[in-house]
Amino acid sequence: MKTLVYGLGESGVAATRALLEAGEDVIAADANDGERLRATLSSLGVEGTLAAGPEVLDGVDRVVVSPGVRPSDPVLGAAEDHGIPTISEVALGLELLGPGVRVAAITGTNGKTTVADMLHRVLEAAAVPHAVAGNSWRALTGCLDEVGSAGLLVLEVSSFQLHYMTEPGFDVAALLNTRPDHMDWHASFDEYRRDKLRVFDGQGREDLALASAGDPVGREAVPGLSGRPLLIGEGDTGILDGALTLRGRPIVRADKLPFAGTHNYENALFAAAAAEWLGVEAEAIRDGILAYRLKPHRLEVVADNDGVVYVDDSKATNPAAVAAALGGLDRTVVLILGGSEKNTDFSEILPQLGKCRAVLCQGEAGPRLADFLEGRGYGDAVERLPDLGSAVSRASDVARAGDVVLLSPGCASFDQFAGYAERGEAFADLARALAGRQGVAG
Ligand code: ADP
Repeated sequence: MKTLVYGLGESGVAATRALLEAGEDVIAADANDGERLRATLSSLGVEGTLAAGPEVLDGVDRVVVSPGVRPSDPVLGAAEDHGIPTISEVALGLELLGPGVRVAAITGTNGKTTVADMLHRVLEAAAVPHAVAGNSWRALTGCLDEVGSAGLLVLEVSSFQLHYMTEPGFDVAALLNTRPDHMDWHASFDEYRRDKLRVFDGQGREDLALASAGDPVGREAVPGLSGRPLLIGEGDTGILDGALTLRGRPIVRADKLPFAGTHNYENALFAAAAAEWLGVEAEAIRDGILAYRLKPHRLEVVADNDGVVYVDDSKATNPAAVAAALGGLDRTVVLILGGSEKNTDFSEILPQLGKCRAVLCQGEAGPRLADFLEGRGYGDAVERLPDLGSAVSRASDVARAGDVVLLSPGCASFDQFAGYAERGEAFADLARALAGRQGVAG
């Protein structure tokens, strides 16, 4: 069987190496060309094609695709036309691992990384051997030996990776939420929804299927699932009497947690439910959650300039994450929105805008967002700024002591930065540089 690895980013490189190691017949290709890709190909030592078109499929039995490649890509289209199966790099990793490893898979529009990380910390607190991989973590095919010897994998899996996966049969599958995002990649919301729901495909009756009662997509899917469902936020599982409660058993009081936001309490419940199913004792679950610190760029306080608190939520790259951030704040907010354009519908944030003193729309998507908010009657609060630097400077002028200046852009960062982390760091630098100026300006 000859496999074509298509797309030579981190996961494509790892997949090629894993296939070589497994003694399989493999060739590699990428639609682009350039110095970095040429160096990658020569370091892999396999037959490869750059600036590849459908001709690379000659003699190929299957394609392993990287998440960055769109389904509309001509090579993938030709593979489909010729009946050549396409699988994601994660699906290849699971195949190479074989059946001996338990897998807890986490997907959703928002919170994947946080829940995977929470579960990781809880398992660590309980000294349960495990490995974490997928999506925002390292590529699964790059750490198969480690996963194999741990015997338990926490897998963060995106809709792109699920799109090219059939019947994964996860021991634990969690769908956190399903809100519009990545509509530039998926053909429609319906397709995005279907891809997310694939996380539950192939589960047996003893496998755990976790969904959120607040997510219509997960909720509606539950009656038809083959695994054993648990809805977070329904019945005796949710935040009850101020405590995170799992099947009627309180785990920890919400006001004791070192992180804020109802969405993060729900994330913790997902992690706790998964950990409980994997055999972790309630005490270790509580310890792991109590010790949990959110990862950077997710509602991270980065400066306090004379009572104006600057919060970096650069990882909020869709409107649902912005709504969650605003929903969790009980102060007046100066909101910085905007970044690269994905043409997403921002209606979801409207109910939260009452607490905003100003909404500063910046970057590539800034003008569209400002037009949209003005059209919905928020013209008094909306201002247009060309970029993040000018928005932070303006925020420091309008914010008053006690306010939060929140960077929760609801957009990707590529109009001005290499990624969300670079954007968050730039915001923190700008905010800290303002220290001392605030009192005068404000
Ligand atoms: P992902 O890995 O799915 O992108 P992250 O955990 O990195 O998710 O969080 C991304 C953004 O979404 C952050 O701004 C975070 O505050 C927000 N977020 C996290 N969990 C949720 C949730 N359950 N619902 C809505 N927003 C969330």
